[in-house]
Amino acid sequence: MNADPVLPPGVSAARFARALSAFESIVGAPNVCRGGAALAPYLDPFAPVADARAFAPSAALLPADVDEIRAILRIANAARVPLWTVSTGRNFAYGGAAPRLAGSVVLDLQRLNRILDVDENLAWALVEPGVSYFDLHAHLRERGMKLWVDPPAAGWGSVIGNTLERGFGYTAYGDHAAAQCGMEVVLANGDVVRTGMGALDAGTAWPLYKPGYGPAFDALFMQSNYGIVTKMGLWLMPAPSAYTIGEIQFEREEDLGVIVDTLRTLQLRGTIEQHAVIEGAIRRAAGMGPRARWYSGNGPMPEAAIAAMQRELAIGRWNLHYALYGEPEVIDVQQRMVERAFASVTHARVTSKRYTGSEEPQGGGDRNMAGIPGMSAFRMLDWRGGEGAHVDFSPLCPADGRDALRQYALVKARAAEYGFDYYGGFTAAGRHLHHVFAAIFERNDPQQATRAGDLLRALMSDARAAGYGVYRSHLLYMDYAAAQYSFNDGALLRLAQTVKDALDPQGVLAPGKQGIWPAALRDMRGYT
Ligand code: ADP
Repeated sequence: MNADPVLPPGVSAARFARALSAFESIVGAPNVCRGGAALAPYLDPFAPVADARAFAPSAALLPADVDEIRAILRIANAARVPLWTVSTGRNFAYGGAAPRLAGSVVLDLQRLNRILDVDENLAWALVEPGVSYFDLHAHLRERGMKLWVDPPAAGWGSVIGNTLERGFGYTAYGDHAAAQCGMEVVLANGDVVRTGMGALDAGTAWPLYKPGYGPAFDALFMQSNYGIVTKMGLWLMPAPSAYTIGEIQFEREEDLGVIVDTLRTLQLRGTIEQHAVIEGAIRRAAGMGPRARWYSGNGPMPEAAIAAMQRELAIGRWNLHYALYGEPEVIDVQQRMVERAFASVTHARVTSKRYTGSEEPQGGGDRNMAGIPGMSAFRMLDWRGGEGAHVDFSPLCPADGRDALRQYALVKARAAEYGFDYYGGFTAAGRHLHHVFAAIFERNDPQQATRAGDLLRALMSDARAAGYGVYRSHLLYMDYAAAQYSFNDGALLRLAQTVKDALDPQGVLAPGKQGIWPAALRDMRGYT
């Protein structure tokens, strides 16, 4: 990386240098990353552009506590230096720790890493930003607490970062935003707010009852740039006495429709209460063998190669992976209900295994469903060989078989046009599905990276034309995604920016995040 820092727009080198030494006097020299190798972890490792400097920070700061964060804010406001907050910065495929606006200073909260409290009876935890799913899981295990975390695909990420981005996992507590309760937030002006019941000076129900008294604000701090979250409460799943993990493999592409419709009924009636996953063949195969075993040509894998791979690995074209939690007698009945529901689908193959509450499954995906964080999702990086990277296209899909088939056909065809396999699947949450497609590319090949980025843009525009929107996006497309939510000439974004200007008049907090630009930097929209 070039040693000269990329400065924030409108900030002179002299003003920046003064701000940086003021920051250093707050956090101490070892907690300031000024450039070169020290800043490398703050570049997007999977940038879908030819030059990752498009999202390069100017520096990174690692404060130790809320007081230091407040002092940093005072300086940032005075010098108009933008900050970009991350908890652990492992938001890979959406930008990692890199800021939307090049030249921003990353505020890395990994040193605020205490698990402040866990209540086993009421099943909640209160954590700081640097706490990862691995940390929380280990903490519960060490103390023998009968509580589960709900890990997302990669367990090394932070509980707070993932929840604020509305990430999801695979147990009955898979909707992370829904399982959040209570926050402490530092506002741009340095004010420290505790939401909900946390606003009582000696409150006892902060992580128990979300609304508190009066307007509720927690959701305002998700996927936004309105504050720096320094504490968060979350609900944990009481460890079940038993659980079953099942997989149903389906032979044909068109089975997706009936899978989605059947699964929706099972979820809405409460038979399956967790986030079940419908994996496409290629995603299911990753980790079982490299792509080159079946196809090494350019362009997407041909149908015949996919069919051969399916046969050889004994996997389905679609693979439904689900879990049932509770008393053994109850989950055995639920298992039969699931099997019955899918019995009419030709060639559907069911396998399942029941575990006692203390047993642990071996396979990566199964472990996630048993509340055990892991890193098996990263197997996908080996699919195409070389130094793998990926960017994700994540449209929300109604839980209706016709919509799922339509989105699948649309993504598969467009991906093929750009030379990518359909590496994807759906995570089902009752009324909606999270459809996630990953464009996997070689990170040292600027052409492939750019092509992946271009594909994402084409997919977003296809989706929009068909009436679908993404739930999350890479830094590169935050403006584009926000512009797609265009009802009444973009009224939603106008509202978001009105709130932004009221809370952060100097525009120092994460400018451009989710397409929300502060007044002073609004002309940066669309700029990369
Ligand atoms: P993780 O490491 O858990 O995957 P990150 O730390 O990269 O997640 O956070 C993802 C995104 O969420 C960041 O890019 C930032 O926009 C936002 N974010 C993360 N932590 C905070 C926080 N403590 N306060 C405000 N926003 C945050």
